[in-house]
Amino acid sequence: MRIILLGPPGSGKGTQAQLLVQRYGIVQLSTGEMLRAAVAAGTPVGLKAKEIMAGGGLVPDEVVVGIISDRIDQPDAKNGFILDGFPRTVPQAEALDELLKHKHLKLDAVIELRVNESALLSRVETRVAQMRERGEEVRVDDTPEVLTKRLASYRNQTEPLIHYYSERRKLSTIDGMMAIDEVTRAIHRQLLALGAVEPKTHARSAAKAAAAKKGAKKAKAAKKPAKTAKKAAKSAKTAKKAVKGAKKTAKKTAKKGVKKTAKKAVKKGSKKGPKKVTKKRAKR
Ligand code: AMP
Repeated sequence: MRIILLGPPGSGKGTQAQLLVQRYGIVQLSTGEMLRAAVAAGTPVGLKAKEIMAGGGLVPDEVVVGIISDRIDQPDAKNGFILDGFPRTVPQAEALDELLKHKHLKLDAVIELRVNESALLSRVETRVAQMRERGEEVRVDDTPEVLTKRLASYRNQTEPLIHYYSERRKLSTIDGMMAIDEVTRAIHRQLLALGAVEPKTHARSAAKAAAAKKGAKKAKAAKKPAKTAKKAAKSAKTAKKAVKGAKKTAKKTAKKGVKKTAKKAVKKGSKKGPKKVTKKRAKR
């Protein structure tokens, strides 16, 4: 599956992309992340992008198109990918169409996260606070002034893509103001409706839950034999005791019996015994 997430800074593209990665096992290709890595590593691309990014402008199209084209060729992108932050201009979208055609790949959907602009600043502020809490380095372009510029470049250069993809019947718009999991569910429903994911992807989570349940049952069952074995051992002990007891009783009874019989025999013998012996002996 290959999808594009479209939306202004702070619309939740990054968050949703990560959730989709977990759900569908595809990779997130974020040009912003790649550029930040290039800046940190001091590569020629990074050196070119550093100032532009810090000012909230857009890095030249050919730079990002080159990065994305190489990244799509990596083995981990074979299963599919989510483009986050790319394309950002109509020429980038055209270049993407071209390179996908060249690579014999199809774009499944473009998901636009529509948000209220007034909410964006507070969202970015929350993101900054969370990053600080985690001890992460805060982005240099996550300041109110630069955010205003980034929003302006979104409006001027990226928003035309809404028209570009809706004309090509690729666009799905989702309310990005909903709670995170609601947005994820809405994206999933949209992908299902478009046939970009098979219902079994949905079933996969259900199957996972079922498998987990089964695993828990098995574990319980595995514990049971131990219990049964304990019980059996106990029964065996009891049985042994019973056998011992029975043997004792049998011995006692036998002894008693012998004694009794002997007594009886003696008694009988005193009465009938001698007659019989005499008969037998007489026969011999
Ligand atoms: P992002 O993390 O997507 O907000 O991107 C951070 C910054 O990286 C942007 O403000 C741009 O300066 C640059 N950038 C990221 N993606 C692109 C792109 N597709 N085209 C041009 N510049 C980009």
